[in-house]
Amino acid sequence: QEAPDTGDTIFGKILRREIPCDFLYEDDLCVAFKDVNPQAPVHFLVIPRKPIPCLEKACNEHTSLLGHLLIIANKVAQQLNVTNGYRVVINNGKDGAQSVYHLHIHVLGGRQMQWPPG
Ligand code: 5GP
Repeated sequence: QEAPDTGDTIFGKILRREIPCDFLYEDDLCVAFKDVNPQAPVHFLVIPRKPIPCLEKACNEHTSLLGHLLIIANKVAQQLNVTNGYRVVINNGKDGAQSVYHLHIHVLGGRQMQWPPG
């Protein structure tokens, strides 16, 4: 069984404090931190401590954890005074342009988003 706070991705290293990172929030289940390559004035990630590789690997046992990630995404957005709306994104797999295989929620704000995305 995998330890809840380990993983061999860059996000595992962030969770283990092996590389520096700007943490915005943390609790027993998840952490939030600024994206190193922001695509908007506000761009942070919310990740579970449990290293679920991607959304398609999530299952029923993760239902409340996934809900928690969304609640925290909004909580951090409010803390950052993102008052004009924001976008929440989960990239899954190759066509979803996922690059780090540790499940994460992007929160982007501080500018007008376009739809559909590219
Ligand atoms: P994905 O493409 O997998 O949905 O998103 C991965 C995100 O992680 C990208 O937006 C990328 O900029 C971010 N990222 C990758 N490595 C690091 C890192 O070492 N630190 C931080 N803070 N963000 C990272």
